[in-house]
Amino acid sequence: MADGLSKDKKSSLKMLPSFVRSTPTGKESGDYLALDIGGTNFRVLRCSLNDGQIQTNAEVYPMSSEVMTGTGRDLFAFIADCIKSFLQKYDIKGSNIPLGFTFSFPCTQHSLNRATLITWTKGFTASGVEGEEVVQLLQNALAERCPDFKVNVAAIVNDTVGTLMASAYENPKSVIGLIIGTGTNACYMEQLDAVEKWTGDRDDPKQVIINIEWGSFGDHGHLDNIRTGFDREIDEHSLNRGKNTFEKMISGMYLGEVVRLAALLLVKDGALFNGNAGDKFNIRESFETRYVSEIVGENGAANAREILKDKFGIDASESDVDTIVKLCNAASVRAGRLAATGIAAILLKINETKDRIVAVDGSVYKKHPTFAKIMSDTLSELIPGNTISWVLADDGSGVGAAMVAAVTKV
Ligand code: BGC
Ligand code: MG
Repeated sequence: MADGLSKDKKSSLKMLPSFVRSTPTGKESGDYLALDIGGTNFRVLRCSLNDGQIQTNAEVYPMSSEVMTGTGRDLFAFIADCIKSFLQKYDIKGSNIPLGFTFSFPCTQHSLNRATLITWTKGFTASGVEGEEVVQLLQNALAERCPDFKVNVAAIVNDTVGTLMASAYENPKSVIGLIIGTGTNACYMEQLDAVEKWTGDRDDPKQVIINIEWGSFGDHGHLDNIRTGFDREIDEHSLNRGKNTFEKMISGMYLGEVVRLAALLLVKDGALFNGNAGDKFNIRESFETRYVSEIVGENGAANAREILKDKFGIDASESDVDTIVKLCNAASVRAGRLAATGIAAILLKINETKDRIVAVDGSVYKKHPTFAKIMSDTLSELIPGNTISWVLADDGSGVGAAMVAAVTKV
């Protein structure tokens, strides 16, 4: 982390200054629009902040993989069309309503509302966006597709930053924003003195939220001693080969696939499904992370049996079911322990282990029944006696961008 904050040392952690210098006081108010892109859906929200209360209207627009992997032009046209239909539905007139944009990819931030995409991650590869200014692309698309709406993009933020900000609105003890969703990442408030590469002013408040981009930890080999053949295989077949090693061991886009690949090795050895998994189980990414969540929870064995039958046409024996449950647990425990280790490292770096809040959002964190406990148990092992709480910042990644817009309102 320290290397990533320096001017010229190499680090697999990007440690990106967000330009967000203060957390909300809880007194912010006003109406804001927020956009949230980065998982499997695109969302548009209207957030009304009123003295500690947040009211939102939100619409979800599913994104096809064609949109995510086509041209940047089509991607931003899609976004602009969604915004247009949202504005019509809620009868929002083209005024100067400030907009916060949650864009959950690594970006070099030039100011609060200017950011350049460094590299796509997760399922995205849309052409002509890497190296470009994202807000500009959004504005161009809006000018073309809904010219009546005059946008005022006040901020572009990472989802981790949004999550930390949304949580801080309700609780000033929030110090870390964590996402365990399709991807994974964390951010935290850092003292400017520690950020050698910071080029902005060094006035008060002498702090800035740093987007760690921890997903790429391990890209320089630091995780090689714990990576498995399954991890290497996932990487080989991913859209971003050689990148985001840590993320591929933790997040929802990959967790089910870890289990599937481990299971297939047992099938090959004749130790599972009588040595034959059938066609469907052999399809890449067919074992979704939501199945893992269903199988590690209550009634896990019964759920496993049903999923194997219904989704894969496999008549599983007692021992097959037992093995699948164990694999789902093992992959989940590994993921949760790795994520908690990252959190422990941040807390020790900022010397905060008492009475602080880690704000968390993301589909895996919300839906996986044991992930939260695995993380907190691991943190207690690594930092005995800590009094850190993990708090769900429900929809933090959506509301957070509005929060940033509100905090920085001039
Ligand atoms: C992205 C991060 C993001 C995380 C969680 C990663 O793939 O690089 O910017 O915060 O996913 O959405
Ligand atoms: Mg998200």
